[in-house]
Amino acid sequence: MLSDTEARLARELPGYARRVLDVLESAGFEAWVVGGWVRDALLGAPGHDVDVTTSAPWPETARVLRAAGATVHETGTAHGTVTAVVDGRPVETTTYRVEGRYSDRRHPDEVRFVTDVREDLARRDFTVNAMAFHPERGLLDPFGGERDLGSRVIRAVGEPRERFEEDALRVLRAVRFACRLGARIEPATQGALEACASGLAEIAPERIGQELAGILATGRVAWALRHEFPVLSAAVPELSPMEGFDQRSPYHAHDVLEHTARVCAGVEEFTGGVPSEALRWAALLHDVAKPACWSVDVSGRGHFFGHPEQGARTLRDVMGRLAIPGEVTRSAAALVRLHDFEIRATAPSMRRMLAELEALAPGQAPSLAFALLDLKRADAVAKAPRCMGYAVDLDAMSETLRQELASGGVWRERDLAVNGGDVMRERGVGPGPGVGMVLAQLLSAVMSGEVPNERQALLAWLRW
Ligand code: ATP
Ligand code: MG
Repeated sequence: MLSDTEARLARELPGYARRVLDVLESAGFEAWVVGGWVRDALLGAPGHDVDVTTSAPWPETARVLRAAGATVHETGTAHGTVTAVVDGRPVETTTYRVEGRYSDRRHPDEVRFVTDVREDLARRDFTVNAMAFHPERGLLDPFGGERDLGSRVIRAVGEPRERFEEDALRVLRAVRFACRLGARIEPATQGALEACASGLAEIAPERIGQELAGILATGRVAWALRHEFPVLSAAVPELSPMEGFDQRSPYHAHDVLEHTARVCAGVEEFTGGVPSEALRWAALLHDVAKPACWSVDVSGRGHFFGHPEQGARTLRDVMGRLAIPGEVTRSAAALVRLHDFEIRATAPSMRRMLAELEALAPGQAPSLAFALLDLKRADAVAKAPRCMGYAVDLDAMSETLRQELASGGVWRERDLAVNGGDVMRERGVGPGPGVGMVLAQLLSAVMSGEVPNERQALLAWLRW
């Protein structure tokens, strides 16, 4: 007899996944849905991909599913995984397995296939991820995952220290799931997390990048900065100097770490929870170079000359190492580079900002311009109370930017109402670098409002 919750999950399990279970079980094997779908469905969000675990050895899984008309891709047979496509939807199907020793703390030395689903659940990282579900047999939850999910607790399956020593990536995964679920981390798991964070140094950087991108995508990296900084700084050592760094500046009420946490929270708030990936990375790293660029003047006050430029360089190093897509990195670097760029609520100032962004991230200027205003706004309210007024000025700037873009803003040479041909004709010169120089002068005259971007006016300017 299924509980109400189990009956709900049985109803919500998509038909294509049910079909995979049925095909395997009619062939005499056992099969369960596991992992993310079960967790998210219990939380009332059954949209996760469905993963299935089964007693069938993978060649049998492939055979019976193909015989039932599914397309099967052999996506990870060394680990017992095939991907069945049913009704156009993929279902990763993996043979019950446990992992052998992890002598390199990264990859298990061997994968051993087993016959008991409980053994398979025991190798999984956290109780909330170690539940299996079947629409007739209900929930199989040997580690109390449902209870932990209900009280929003991340708890390692088994001995936490051992589990993090086996695979240090789990340290970062714990933080990701805590952020995702708004959960706290159970004390013994937390202790092991801190003890084992240094193991992240041996993890492949691109796997760290994936988890960190996952943490940013939850919108709760501010929590991780405040509560799990030892883990984040083990993942990205460039972050460590931010902690406890006293800025000695009248503009800053917080150390660089708390300031950064506030900016990360601010960009979520000012964008209604949907900042771009680039803006999230930029918020995290905008002041990363402050400690390195710090100097004190004769009055004892701190300055950070060059920190946006140095910050953009550090960001490119970090994101390149973590294998974050180049497009995201370029945009984030542009935002960091310009986060202290001075702007005013005037059309020429907005055009200059667009031109700077265009030069750093070609083709991205309009969307990055709004992101830059959001970053500046978050930055302003995260400083000292005396800087708050600037956030209001930024609202006026957003409005000016909107008007500028709506009126077909001019910040690239190709936005001019004349082109190189016009320059050659009006000036009586042939093709060459001189044409580009004239266009650049003309663009700057239009951007500053000296000449309107109207063809006749521009031709007259060329003749003059
Ligand atoms: P997400 O929505 O983030 O993908 P998920 O639960 O599907 O959530 P995955 O990283 O895709 O997470 O992993 C699928 C399942 O495999 C997890 O729920 C967990 O049971 C197990 N798992 C994944 N990585 C590990 C690991 N490093 N150690 C132990 N178990 C893991
Ligand atoms: Mg997944």
